[in-house]
Amino acid sequence: MFNLEKIPGIDALRTPCYVYDMGLLDSTINALRDSSVKYGINVNYALKANSEPEILRKIASYGFGADCVSGNEVSRAIECGFPKSGVFYAGVGKTDREIVQALECGSPFFVVESLQELEVLSSIACSRAAEINVLLRINPEIDAHTHKFITTGTSANKFGISVNDLDAALNLLGRLPGLRMQGLHSHIGSQITGMEFFSAQCERMNLFIEKVRSAGFECSMVSLGGGLGVDYDCPDTHPAPDFDGWFSAIDSSLNRTPGMKVFVEPGRSLVAQCGTLLSRVLFVKHNPARNFLVLDAGMNNLMRPALYGARHSIENLSASGRGESGFEKYDVVGPVCESSDVFAGDCSLPVSLRGDIVAIRSAGAYGATMSSRYNLKDLAETLYV
Ligand SMILES: *Cc1c(COP(=O)(O)O)cnc(C)c1O
Repeated sequence: MFNLEKIPGIDALRTPCYVYDMGLLDSTINALRDSSVKYGINVNYALKANSEPEILRKIASYGFGADCVSGNEVSRAIECGFPKSGVFYAGVGKTDREIVQALECGSPFFVVESLQELEVLSSIACSRAAEINVLLRINPEIDAHTHKFITTGTSANKFGISVNDLDAALNLLGRLPGLRMQGLHSHIGSQITGMEFFSAQCERMNLFIEKVRSAGFECSMVSLGGGLGVDYDCPDTHPAPDFDGWFSAIDSSLNRTPGMKVFVEPGRSLVAQCGTLLSRVLFVKHNPARNFLVLDAGMNNLMRPALYGARHSIENLSASGRGESGFEKYDVVGPVCESSDVFAGDCSLPVSLRGDIVAIRSAGAYGATMSSRYNLKDLAETLYV
């Protein structure tokens, strides 16, 4: 259960509100740093999971790098204290303006996702008399069996350079001026809980690294992306994910050679559990077939359930002092004018009343960053505790 005592003056709290437990964030970052030191694996935090400046400054203070997927994320990362030399810029559709923006912020490593992008980067590098550091993002064709919208490493997917094009990409890299080949990148998906997928990813990468070397290039940097899952069902039982398990799978499957720097790019696993979306029950509605709890938070505040059918643990924080009034099944919904604005169907909760505070747990990743002002609703408030 989310601990309401963390929030003094709950009655006056404006909802919906994202509450971030900075102590939990600290202990999660510490666990990640310990694993990273133990296995000699470098960490770039993936900003798209949560890009609140307060959270970024804390993560940056641990000396991690940053994984960015837009020009604005590159700027934000550097503003919030990530070192310029530790910024990676990935993304399947970088605009020319974003490429220049990123170059002007420092000299990040560009994670290149197509042959055409190599040509564009080369011409921009030449026009600025600069050199651009390049990692090739390879689609390793691993199906990590997560939800179809968050699997990224299969051949039917838009991300990365297909295995068949690796030779052509290396050929281009040999010919095009202004590009410096640094290594390879892959990212196989998100919310992955089976470590065997990361082992399979590494075994594929071993083959590609060999290819790069036999074409005469160095492969001094290898990034394996993010994707480690968290426990959305029991956030209190597993507040920190299994970083050691992830790194140990990498360590035992990747052929690491002296001087090769290995990177991971966790997003969700670092920030999901420290965030909770607090909301108030506006109305309790009984239709012949269903009971509805209508919240003041909606899909515009937390889009994951509507976007990919994601489930979050939902708790009524106001019902505990009320004695045993029993449980009821509710469809927990938001106020937005879309039928998909549903946080959970048939959710068993204590009998709930207008004004009750409801916690939607594990909302620190892909919550606030995906929010919008659809229906011209206000964005959620933000509170750090
Ligand atoms: C989204 C993304 C990540 C982070 O993924 P998580 O599942 O949040 O860990 C890492 N690298 C790249 C390239 C990404 O697009």
